[in-house]
This record gives sequence, structure tokens and C-alpha cells, in this order.
Amino acid sequence: MFLTWIGIKLREALARGLKVDIMGVGFDNINMDEAVRLAVGCTLDGGKHYIVTPNSEIVYEALRDGELMDTLNSASVVLPDGAGIIAASKILKTPLREKVAGVDFAVRALPALAREGKKLFLFGGKPGVAERAAGRIREISPGITVCGFRDGYFSPEEEAGICERINDLGADVIYVCLGAPKQEQWISRNRGRLNASLLVGLGGSIDILAGETKRAPEFFIRLNLEWLHRLIKQPSRLGRMMRLPKFILKVLLRKGRAGRGI
Ligand code: UDP
Repeated sequence: MFLTWIGIKLREALARGLKVDIMGVGFDNINMDEAVRLAVGCTLDGGKHYIVTPNSEIVYEALRDGELMDTLNSASVVLPDGAGIIAASKILKTPLREKVAGVDFAVRALPALAREGKKLFLFGGKPGVAERAAGRIREISPGITVCGFRDGYFSPEEEAGICERINDLGADVIYVCLGAPKQEQWISRNRGRLNASLLVGLGGSIDILAGETKRAPEFFIRLNLEWLHRLIKQPSRLGRMMRLPKFILKVLLRKGRAGRGI
């Protein structure tokens, strides 16, 4: 009860203006502990919520895709995932307090969700990945109930059935890991027919949770160079990652225009 109250109060406080606008996306200026408390609050207040974790590539994409922009901005919580977003917030002189990486959030939320007896469904990744992630999650946080899992490859005709199964399993929280912007589109299309109180878009986190992909060594994370580690491991991401410098350029241009009062 008390936790519910805290969750509601915290969300009201955020709604009152702790959002930081980065190129049209309103990010919550919160740290990891607050993000976890907010997520738990979302599962307790009787409403239906979703959380997104955009990095600069996704914000760049949203600048050209109005529907994606709306989906990001309609989320109950928008977590700043990635060094590019933090850098942009500094350039725009509205610094965000810290990076809240989706994968860290996914792990940190587990014990808090377990304490409230919430059931978690894992959705996404190649066949077998979600199952392995479920096993590792049960090891990391033995109290959590993973009520089901499913890979992220399906036809449009299968969507309704997937949602029905998730509902039948009684999931309270769904980690949706289809990559961006697919997962945001899936959430937007399906959240109305899902009974879960919280959906979280977490991209490739499922691969890290499953142990398929290694997280960057601490050295890279501390220097905000996780993206470089990812690029070294997956050079095929180069095209996609070129959005980062383009995004920063757009931020600098916007800053310049604002400085001249344009
Ligand atoms: N994926 C999926 N269904 C799809 C496309 C992708 O489940 O139709 C999964 C993919 O297997 C991977 C994740 O989504 O686990 C995407 O990871 P990526 O690192 O590309 O996404 P990001 O975190 O950068 O959005």
C-alpha cells in the first residue's frame, strides 16, 4: 500500500516537470533507484503502463517517424539509455543526471518485482534465447516468477495468439525485446489487448541476459564507450551506428539555432 502511494507520488512529481526534452523526446531525469521504484509503482497502481529505453539511434529515427515519436512520448517512463543521450543533454544545457541502461534496469528491477510477487514474461530474441535468459534470471533473482517466454520471430497473424497466451499465463510485466523500433511498434499495437500492468522495451538486452552477447568490459562502460565495444564485436552495426554522429550534429545545430534565437 505504502509502495503504491510512493509510486503514485513519484510519478506525479515527474509529470510536474522533471522531463528533459532531447530533440523532441521527453526523458525522465531520474537515477536507477528511482527508475526501479517507478516501475514497481506502475505495477501497483491499477493502471497499464509501458517504459521505453531510447538511445540516440532511436531518437534520431523518431525525428523522421512521427508515430515512433508519439509512442516514445506516451510512455509512462522514458529512460535515457546511452552515452549519446547524456552527451546531447549536456550540449543542450539540460543535463540528465545519469544514464539508465535498459539492460541494467532489467536486472535491477528483478528483486523489486519479486518482492511484490509479480510475474514476468520474456519476449524476444532468436529461438532459445528467451528460455536461456529465463534460466539466468532465475539464478540472478531466485524470488522472481518467470511465467513464460517466447522468441521474437512471428507473423502478423500470430500476434493475437501471442497476446492471448501471455494473458493466460497471468503476466504482470513483459520484457519486450524485439529491437527498436519494432518493439515500440509492437507495444503500441498490442498493449490494449494485454492484461499486464507494465511492458518494457529492452532491445538486445535479452541476448545479454541470456549470456549470448557479452556486456562491454567495465573500462568501456566507465568511459561511455560501450557503443565502441559493440561496434568492434558487431561491425555490421556500422551503418546503424552512423546515426550517433548524425544525431550529435543535429543536436549541435539545434543548440546553435537556439543560441541565435531562431
Ligand atoms: N529481434 C527479435 N525479432 C525481430 C528482430 C529482432 O526478437 O524480428 C531481436 C534480436 O534477436 C535481438 C534483438 O531483437 O535479440 C535486437 O537486438 P539489437 O541489439 O539489434 O537491438 P537494439 O537493442 O539495438 O534495439
